[in-house]
Amino acid sequence: MSYELRGIGMTSQRTRERLVQRLIQDGISQLTVLDQIRDIPRHLFVDEALASRAYEDTALPIGFGQTISQPYIVARMTEALLAGGRLKKVLEVGTGSGYQTAVLARLVEEVYSVERIRGLLNQARERFRRLNLNNVRLKYTDGGWGWPEHALYDGIIVTAAPLEVPAALIQQLALGGRMLIPVGKRGTQQLVQITRTGSNSHEELVLEQVRFVSLRGGTE
Ligand code: SAH
Repeated sequence: MSYELRGIGMTSQRTRERLVQRLIQDGISQLTVLDQIRDIPRHLFVDEALASRAYEDTALPIGFGQTISQPYIVARMTEALLAGGRLKKVLEVGTGSGYQTAVLARLVEEVYSVERIRGLLNQARERFRRLNLNNVRLKYTDGGWGWPEHALYDGIIVTAAPLEVPAALIQQLALGGRMLIPVGKRGTQQLVQITRTGSNSHEELVLEQVRFVSLRGGTE
């Protein structure tokens, strides 16, 4: 593996291991998820100037007024999604840097990810190419409407917060499928786990308080 992927100094395996230990202390227990946090070079998902902070458990700016999610949140959402059972197809709304996408791509068969800011989508695409992640499909669109062409999905992860759960997303969830979505206003958002139980029914479980950027309509 190249130095670039393996990392040195503040991006080294030792630095990454410290992050993994912290996530374990904070309650993340699924080893397959922790392995991805250890292996995936998060420093390649942020600007070079921020690479030395890439293995801190914190969200970081990625331009366009957006942020790469905090590793704890990525691990928490991924773990909750996987606990719902075997996943073939997963939809992600809000590709952003592509970091959450990369974690998912290592753990499920196919990831469909949509993003409303073209500049971010292009950068993410380049990262997937460099990391040889070939099971990711991307689309430039307002993800509040999901990606109906490939529905139904076994799982959906939304990485920006709407005020209410978009009905279109529930409709694209397979029966028994699970969605992780932050819901609510800035300052009072909750991470909600939704399980589709029937054609017109679903169950909701609030997991914890979170802070995400807002889900916005349209594209730019
Ligand atoms: N998973 C990303 C999170 C990025 S922040 C990461 O770890 O890097 C959330 C992202 O959601 C932003 O890139 C933002 O542009 C995008 N977003 C917000 N509203 C959206 C919408 N309606 N459709 C698609 N993407 C959206």
